[in-house]
Amino acid sequence: MVMKSNILLIYTGGTIGMMENPSSGELEPLKFEYIHEQIPEIQRLDIAVIPVSLSQPLDSSQMHPSHWIELVEIIRFHYTRVDGFVVLHGTDTLAFTASALSFMIQNLQKPIILTGSQLPVGVLRSDGKENLLAALEIAHKKNHKNQPQLREVAVFFQSKLFRGNRVSKISTNQFDAFASPNHPLLGFAGVEIEIDQVHSLPFPPKKTVFYPRLALNIGLIKLYPGMHLPSYSSVFNVLNHSAVVIEAFGSGNTSNDPSFRAVISKYVREGGVLVTVSQCTSGSVIPGKYAAGQLLMQLGAWNGKNLTTEAAVTKLMWLFGNQSKPTKALFEKTLCGESD
Ligand code: ASP
Repeated sequence: MVMKSNILLIYTGGTIGMMENPSSGELEPLKFEYIHEQIPEIQRLDIAVIPVSLSQPLDSSQMHPSHWIELVEIIRFHYTRVDGFVVLHGTDTLAFTASALSFMIQNLQKPIILTGSQLPVGVLRSDGKENLLAALEIAHKKNHKNQPQLREVAVFFQSKLFRGNRVSKISTNQFDAFASPNHPLLGFAGVEIEIDQVHSLPFPPKKTVFYPRLALNIGLIKLYPGMHLPSYSSVFNVLNHSAVVIEAFGSGNTSNDPSFRAVISKYVREGGVLVTVSQCTSGSVIPGKYAAGQLLMQLGAWNGKNLTTEAAVTKLMWLFGNQSKPTKALFEKTLCGESD
């Protein structure tokens, strides 16, 4: 028999947190404590929904790692009392938050599903209500042993369930706004909601670990032809950044311009860490495949393989925030399904 689940619904802000006032037509923040009245369909699910909110809900463009820490603390506080979590989030930085949570809460035994919407709840044709209701249903899904079917951070959007640290926002105007080209879907909401047990994370062998700390001194640049690297010397400065993610061309290639070489070589000599990810959304970094990929390899760049940029940045924030000696080996190890 399927038992009623308790799901903590955490509101962080964003479009999904807005509601059209039926009389004035104006968009107003949802009165989150009255979510059951505002979205009465929730009561038809076999779920006890417990609403809580970030201390200051925000447009997700204003998200800061301190908000991720607040989220982790909320989840830690309720972890043993509920069956799963749904996080309502603006779409703009949702993939960063999902990636960060996956590193900050490891060996998850319960689902954490992030969702948002392109149109506010209550607006005609809104995707908000559907996304919210399906995310709640997914968080409630149990196997025959009455254990959660999903035990990881995931993103649900427009019928699709993605691994949280594999997803990126790809559209500003389509309902189908997220994709994870380097990882299969974890599930799909059609007539039935199916969870793919083969591609989702197995039950963790160890206890859940919470890491409410992050390093902020992580840099990121995207290469482009003709870039004048010396102008970015403050990025490649160990006093500002312990590590810099370089979104390189293709499989990890860069310009051989002597000024580029000089700037990044100096950074490495002074103790900075270079991390290579690809500008391509699908496929992986293959160090040294081309002569143009030799430079980063020779400088000992850490291989971001097929990490999304969101996952690379947040993994480094986690690594430098929690390990006394962050190493290439630990960075390149897959910790929670973030890379192959
Ligand atoms: N700017 C909004 C946000 O990310 C957009 C959205 O929610 O879709 O909070």
